[in-house]
Amino acid sequence: MSTRKHVYFFKTGKADGKADMKNLLGGKGANLAEMCNLKIPVPAGFTISTQACVYYFKHKNTYPVGLKKEIDANIKKLEREMGLEFGSNNNPLLLSVRSGSRASMPGMMDTVLNLGLNDSTLAPLIKLTGNERFVYDSYRRFIQMFSNVVLDLDGSNFEAVLKKKKAVLGAKLDTDLNAKALKELCADYKALVREKTKKPFPQNPREQLAMSINAVFDSWNNYRAVEYRKMYNIPAEWGTAVNVQAMVFGNMGDNSGTGVAFTRDPGTGQNKFFGEFLVNAQGEDVVAGIRTPLPVSGMKKYFPKASADLLKTAQKLEKHYRDMLDLEFTIQDKKLYMLQARVGKRTAAAAVKIAVDLVNERRISRKTAVERIDPAQLDHLLHPMLDPNAKVEVIAKGLPASPGAAVGKVVFTSEEASEMAAKGEPVILVRYETSPEDIRGMADSKGILTVHGGMTSHAAVVARGMGTCCVSGAGDVNIYEKDRLLTIGRISVHAGDWMTLDGSNGRVILGKTNLVSPGLSDDFATLMKWADTFRTLKVRANADTPDDAKLARKFGAQGIGLCRTEHMFFAENRILAVREMILSKDKKTRSKALKKLLPMQRDDFKGILKAMAGLPVTIRLLDPPLHEFLPKTKVAIAAVAAELGENSLEVRHRIESLSEANPMLGHRGCRLGITFMEIYEMQVRAIYEATAALLKRGIKVMPEVMIPLVATRKELELCRDMALETAKKVAKATKMKLPVSIGTMIELPRAAMVADKIAEVADFFSFGTNDLTQTALGLSRDDSGTFLPHYVELGIFKNDPFISIDEEGVGKIMEIGVKKGRKTKKNLKLGICGEHGGDPSSIDLCHRLGLNYVSCSPYRLPIARLAAAHAAIKHNKRNGKR
Ligand code: PEP
Ligand code: MG
Repeated sequence: MSTRKHVYFFKTGKADGKADMKNLLGGKGANLAEMCNLKIPVPAGFTISTQACVYYFKHKNTYPVGLKKEIDANIKKLEREMGLEFGSNNNPLLLSVRSGSRASMPGMMDTVLNLGLNDSTLAPLIKLTGNERFVYDSYRRFIQMFSNVVLDLDGSNFEAVLKKKKAVLGAKLDTDLNAKALKELCADYKALVREKTKKPFPQNPREQLAMSINAVFDSWNNYRAVEYRKMYNIPAEWGTAVNVQAMVFGNMGDNSGTGVAFTRDPGTGQNKFFGEFLVNAQGEDVVAGIRTPLPVSGMKKYFPKASADLLKTAQKLEKHYRDMLDLEFTIQDKKLYMLQARVGKRTAAAAVKIAVDLVNERRISRKTAVERIDPAQLDHLLHPMLDPNAKVEVIAKGLPASPGAAVGKVVFTSEEASEMAAKGEPVILVRYETSPEDIRGMADSKGILTVHGGMTSHAAVVARGMGTCCVSGAGDVNIYEKDRLLTIGRISVHAGDWMTLDGSNGRVILGKTNLVSPGLSDDFATLMKWADTFRTLKVRANADTPDDAKLARKFGAQGIGLCRTEHMFFAENRILAVREMILSKDKKTRSKALKKLLPMQRDDFKGILKAMAGLPVTIRLLDPPLHEFLPKTKVAIAAVAAELGENSLEVRHRIESLSEANPMLGHRGCRLGITFMEIYEMQVRAIYEATAALLKRGIKVMPEVMIPLVATRKELELCRDMALETAKKVAKATKMKLPVSIGTMIELPRAAMVADKIAEVADFFSFGTNDLTQTALGLSRDDSGTFLPHYVELGIFKNDPFISIDEEGVGKIMEIGVKKGRKTKKNLKLGICGEHGGDPSSIDLCHRLGLNYVSCSPYRLPIARLAAAHAAIKHNKRNGKR
């Protein structure tokens, strides 16, 4: 929809916009309007729509017709509202210009404050406020911000001048600088601008405003915003809105201040007002970590009335939005103004607690609570913690900015973090403080440590959103970036040394510490239970050991969807027997080796079937090419030959004869079973003997035998006949009635195309989407990492097809498999066991295709349960009301 109106005015008590206009006004603009509608004190202003920004980019940085006029008219309106005049030399109106897209992108785009100041508006402002220090403080901030955001000058140039000034005057904090010092600083800053740009600092307020609006539009495409958008899948077409507001000043002296707050604790979800503020400070000071802020709980001492108003406003807003909010406020001369309210970012643990609490407080329904939790975010909850029994050497303490624990090698720059992470090294990024420029390195790090900044510093907010462990404000740490070294008292830690962070209590620990999996809260269990009432897809786990199976049950598995038997072959006590089996010259020696393996496999299956008693367990027969089990080097081959009492050269030749140019498309899966049926027969016998033994003990077990890499009906038929025959023999020998179910993986495109025929001899299908993706796209699952990211970047693939199912290709093949399979057997049981079984968007597809279950690794089960609930809520109309 396109509208002619591009600018939306707001003032307390009346606004053109409202909360549900986020697409047009951006989150900030829509919520400012909503607060005005709720009669909350907000500095008046106007929002330039995202549509105007989209037009600007589409039409070579020009405005839509009428926009300029609309801006002028709204400035007039604002002047009337405030009783001030923009650019006037008597009573000047000063403005803030802020970005605000549909999705919150904290700190990624640009802001300009104190706009309208110039050499001529200083004097009237000093006269008006009687506060010379404040006016020069605002001017120096404006020159720096404008130069950085609009003129593209590096902020560090200004920081250096400021630092020098402070050093000369012996000032510790910015607030220690008096009016005279700040006045000199303004002159130095202007000289710097002239030197760098060869032009004077722009003095015309209208020109300043136009340049700032364009700069905010342009900041939609700056490096960090683009990186952030990629990370959170925010479409480039959305654009940003621009909010122009009358300034209120938190830096007007000790009766003024500024802060950020959350209506509940964003780290834990506790229903406790949470936040930080600074006296005599402006906007960005709190989040930028320039001075360490104070907790809002101590605010009443400084501003009793404004503090009470803030609490009341927070409660009113939370009630209205029915969610935890992130608030920004300024106190100007004891009076409170709200600058922002938005649904607050929170850790996964907090998200769960808040959702459950809001249901218990009767603010939201269970369905809303389930919908509010992003399945992918749950991953963070399942992150490891420090082993409580580990002995640790705590070398420093900071703030517990983002929970979880991390172990990694110390790096001091974001670039190095990304480089090392790309090599598979876990890293801890140590910075004095982080800035949005660091976003990529932060995302690539296991943990983040900063020396400076509070619980709402950039590092803290961004790390919490990413679910990355973070300790901020560890003031005892000294960083020597050039020397790639940090010191804490007498302790030195070099780049590359191991460090452990505990983001739950702010501990910085020397060396590598053992991490353990987390215990889950009652709220988590409650939310999962609610999710289970909505979903129609079952969830199973991919698990190969009894321990994994037990863990899977704890996470709510309703069975095992894939037990890969090859993993059992690698155990130390049996690899020799496996090698003996593979390297045997004839059937006789092979069956001798298989006899050794049979009891071991039987025990394997007993263990896993027992751990899953009462639930189905899909056991897949041997899949990978045999040479994967064999030694590679000359020395290792000689050792194996010696153990087997064979000639080393002969063994080497046999190994060479098994090697293949393209093993993933070679002698593997059921092709192995068909050429060496005695291997599959041993496995099937082990499965049913284990089943019979457990059933005899009264343990209800339900094995499902799965044949991999089937392309034709005949392949499955041959394997199935053998399995049925073997089951019959075991049943007879044990005198037990055995539950026999034999099915196949659908992991080759041909299998899907002839699924109607395959279904004639299958009791179930399980989509092996790893191989199906590999074979459908002709894309090696092992080698494509080198170019796949580039393909995703270019948009050739929307997502990595090994992470999220390529819906139009692989998804279509699955659809054919489902339709054809169920044409033959109406109630054919269908599942998925490729890695995609734990991916929310793939789970949505599986729901739509009508599969019976998804199967994924145990740790991803909660994600799968929640994603399945989301899919059901989204696609099943009758689920609509609960
Ligand atoms: C698959 O191909 O999707 C599958 C589950 O099997 P594997 O990953 O063991 O090849
Ligand atoms: Mg496979």
